Amino acid sequence: MSSNFHPDGTLFIVSGPSGAGKTTLINEARRQLEPIGITLYFSVSHTTRNPRSGEAEGKSYYFMSEERFRDMIARGEFLEWAFVHEQLYGTSKKEVVDRLNRGEDVILDIDYQGAKQIAAHRDLNERKLNVFIFPPSLDILEQRLRDRGLNTDQEIDTRLRKAIDEIDAGKEFYDYIIINDDLKVATECLKAAIIAKKLQTKTALAAIDKMAERFKEERDGRFARRR
Ligand code: ADP
Ligand code: 5GP
Repeated sequence: MSSNFHPDGTLFIVSGPSGAGKTTLINEARRQLEPIGITLYFSVSHTTRNPRSGEAEGKSYYFMSEERFRDMIARGEFLEWAFVHEQLYGTSKKEVVDRLNRGEDVILDIDYQGAKQIAAHRDLNERKLNVFIFPPSLDILEQRLRDRGLNTDQEIDTRLRKAIDEIDAGKEFYDYIIINDDLKVATECLKAAIIAKKLQTKTALAAIDKMAERFKEERDGRFARRR
């Protein structure tokens, strides 16, 4: 649609503590970016955890047994995978790489261990952006997890403890950090990061070369007519 954004498929990796607001921000950013010409394909992960009420197979996750998950690991089918809160989670390599190669933009909601694995994929270097979402305080994170009503007290404790580890582990490889205090402001920040990446010249050189070629042809045509 808009010719402002480079046509190369870009991988947007959104991570941060559970309850920080990743799902909410990703949904908002996808909805608001579509009308200006950025379509973000949300990559559905695989997991061994049980579905929660309202979660649909293939929409929230691909739910599977540990045995099937381990088969996929053995076949090298994951771009990244990790143990998160005692369950296995992973991103399908084929799904992500095929889409990127078709020039589609893909967005992932994964934990910091997965983001770190992807950071080590050198072939994706110029084509990816790591965004870290963080809550304004541990108290607010706890409140959000409680209000969301999806986790037991024990699960909430585990998530709060892990949140602190994530700051230390994550700070070295994130491109952008967004504190999700006010939802509107945080959404604008995520959109800005995505838009900025889609305007980067480094990844768009081929498109710019083509455009420069067209400009030259137009210029030559115009001056030839005037002669
Ligand atoms: P995550 O995907 O990171 O686990 P969610 O997007 O599910 O987090 O958000 C956790 C809860 O916090 C949800 O109930 C969501 O509606 C709420 N929430 C998200 N962002 C904000 C915000 N900026 N202010 C208040 N509540 C928020
Ligand atoms: P939940 O079970 O609450 O949906 O997700 C728990 C955590 O797992 C979240 O922090 C989420 O980002 C992470 N997660 C979801 N899918 C993946 C994945 O494919 N890989 C990794 N590494 N983490 C994931």
